[in-house]
Order: sequence, then structure tokens, then C-alpha cells
Amino acid sequence: VDQQPQPFGGTKEEWLEKDRKYVWHHISPHNDHPMIAVSGEGSWITDQDGTRYLDAMSGLWCVNVGHGREEIAQSAYEQMKALAYVPMTQSHEPAILLAEKLNDWLEGEYRIFFSNSGSDANEVAFKIARQFHHQNGEPTRHKFISRHRAYHGNSMGALGATGQAARKIKYEPLGVGFSHVPPPYCYRCPFGRNKDACGLECATIYEEVIRWEGPETVAAVIMEPVITGGGMIVPPPDYMRTVQEICQRYGVLLIVDEVICGFGRSGQKFGHQNYGVQPDIVTMAKGMTSAYAPLSATAVRADLYETFREPGTDSHFRHVNTFGGNPVSCRVALANLEILERENLVSRADELGYLLRDKLEPLLELSMVGDIRTFGFACGVELIEADGSPAHADKVMNVLASCKKDGILIGKNGDTVPGFANILTISPPFVTTEKELDLIAGSLLAALRSLD
Ligand code: PLP
Repeated sequence: VDQQPQPFGGTKEEWLEKDRKYVWHHISPHNDHPMIAVSGEGSWITDQDGTRYLDAMSGLWCVNVGHGREEIAQSAYEQMKALAYVPMTQSHEPAILLAEKLNDWLEGEYRIFFSNSGSDANEVAFKIARQFHHQNGEPTRHKFISRHRAYHGNSMGALGATGQAARKIKYEPLGVGFSHVPPPYCYRCPFGRNKDACGLECATIYEEVIRWEGPETVAAVIMEPVITGGGMIVPPPDYMRTVQEICQRYGVLLIVDEVICGFGRSGQKFGHQNYGVQPDIVTMAKGMTSAYAPLSATAVRADLYETFREPGTDSHFRHVNTFGGNPVSCRVALANLEILERENLVSRADELGYLLRDKLEPLLELSMVGDIRTFGFACGVELIEADGSPAHADKVMNVLASCKKDGILIGKNGDTVPGFANILTISPPFVTTEKELDLIAGSLLAALRSLD
């Protein structure tokens, strides 16, 4: 426990009282005792009491380069002094440099549309896909196909794409035209297969659905390389390529949501690079700035973009947002990407992923642990009851509380479908040390043993 400076003064009770009075917390039900964080360094954050927590979820899968990076703070300061704002109807140097850098990272030719959040980036992708078909002589192509258990954001369209009933029920009807197919969930294969007899029906079903819907009505498929927030669902190796082939056969665009998987989390620059596909549209956010500033982007294949520039037509993309591509956020993203490159953090994330997997392997001996799934430096631990059904939510909450007591913040994929709150998630910053991974694994093992 380190005593932290209190820049604003006041006692902890006073802060909690004000928090309870004024602040509406995101999603966590009735959180009357939130951690009030005051500082961060590397993989650790410190609260008002000076208690340190290992941030084993990188916040919400986003602080990839770790906390407390002076050079990112400096870049924001310099940009604010030089130019705080100009709308993206015009341009500025950080946006141009960042768009160029993103093309390198994507290993293809893309035009970059900047927004603020992952949800925004997906909304932009949906609009671009519809407009593309519209002005390409196929105006009836308006539907999107997503997957059950997927999460694509909180706004009405992005939530429409999301395949998690519990997040949607009270807000429906949502964005129109989204249908869902079963996820490539090998541990509980929706097609009743086991791993040795996989027929890849989770991929080939796209062809059936496109034909049932009518290919002339389908605009795009959207998917994450792995479903992260819906249970760390890692597909068979040929899954994504098979889906892309089907999309190409039927003139359907492939939108890949890299909001979590991008920027090294997958062990490659982008998650889809693990599967040998070249998406038509890529959306990204979180790790682009390591969450030091809000920023997202929708990268669109350059040849698709050209159809938005037909001379003498009204083909431009009729979309603007005030903060998207903010110069400070773009400058922060550039500083963040420079750190990732200079410190080889993408390959480090890959190595750390294998190390974490090894350290968690002993968990599989516990009857409560059904499966462990890793993708790069992100991991899901599926907890089960004795009969193999998903572990009850109270047990999962016990594990989270026990780890928090040890000073380790891990996550869970909760409430995606009633009865499925049973996947623990771990996704630490890329600067996490082996010793810190031992702390995470040790704390989890102790918590689960006490319940087993
Ligand atoms: N897409 C994915 C895969 C996500 O995990 C998230 C957020 O967690 C989003 C989109 C939405 O991003 P945001 O919360 O920035 O709107």
C-alpha cells in the first residue's frame, strides 16, 4: 500500500457520497462502493486509499501499452498547444500521419474514417456498406449478418449487430436488418460436433443464411476475429477464410471488428492477420490510443472508397461527427503506436499469451474449470457446474471478489445470455511481467480451489 497524493483533497467517504449522489456508473448494477482510482503505472492502478491493483483486464481490454506513459502525455500536451481542434471536414497532420501508419499496420490499401468509439466505428461501417451497394446498382442490399454472443457496441445499430439477448431486451427494437448465426463455439458446438469431427458448419451456415435471406438483400457480414466480450470464443483455423470466400461469392462485404483484437492483442497487429484474410472494412478503437484518449476508425478498402468519389454525383459519404479524428487523439495514437513498435510489444504480447496459457494450465485440473481459451494475450476461463452446465453467476462473482481482495482485477463475460455469466477474462497490458502473471494465476487458482 502506497500513500497517494490527493490532488483534490477530501476524505474517501466524502468522495463516495458524492459519487453516489451524482455519478451513474456504466453497466455495473448499483455499484455503491466503486474503486476511485487516482493513478496508474505499468500494469498497476492505485485507488484513493493507496491500494494497488494489478489491472489484469487493461481496463476494458484497452490500455495495451500500460499506464503512466509520459511520452503519450507529452504528445497530447504539445498537440493541445499547437492545435486543439479542426473538424475532419478539413485535415491536420496527425490525422494524415495516423491514416498512413494504419495502412502499414493493415498491410493493405485503406481509406480511414475517424470517429470516437468502437460503437461509432461500427455504425460508420454499416452506413458505408449500405451506401456502397446503393450507388453500386444494388440498393436492396441492406441486411447484416452477425453472430450470437457477439458484442459490437451500445448504440442502436451496433447493439442490433450484437448477439447477446440480455443486453438488448429492454431497448428493442434496435437497428433494423440484423440477423445472427450460431457462433464457432467449439467447447459447446452448436452443431453437436466434437473437435475431431468438425464439419465447419458454423462457417458454411453463412451460405445458407445468405441464400435464405436472398443474396440481393445482404449488405455485409460483421465479425470479430474471435468473439472476445461474449466468451472468448476462438474459431477453428479455417473459419474466417471460409466465411470470406462465401461473402465474396455472393457479393457480401466482410466487416471485421478489431476493436479489441487490434493493435497487438491477438499477437499480430490485427486479429484477422492470424487467419489470412483481407477484410473489406476494418473497425478499430480501444488499443489504437491504449485508451489515453478517445478515438476510433473505420478503414475501408481503397477501391470501395473510390465509388464515393464519382464526379458529378451525390456519392460522398454524408456523415460527420464533431470529435472524430480530434488532433490530440490522433497525436496520442501516433505516440502509442510508436511505443508498440519501438518496444516490440506486439510480439511480446504473443509471447506473453503463451506464457499466461502455461501458467493457467493447472486450473484445468479443477472440476469447476471446463475450458481455457487464449487468443494472443487474451484469455477466457470457462467455469462449469458438476454436470457441465455453465457455472452459476454467484460463483463467478465470488472468484472476481477473491481476486480483487488479492489486488488482481480480472473480468467476466456476464449476462450475455441468461445462464451464461461463466467465463472469466484476463487481458493484461503488454508490459506485464512474468512475476505479475504468476500473481494472476496464483490468485485465480486459490479462488477456484476454495470453491471446487
Ligand atoms: N466492438 C467490440 C468488439 C467491443 O468489444 C466493443 C466494446 O467493448 C465495441 C465494439 C464498442 O466499443 P465502444 O465501447 O468504444 O463503443
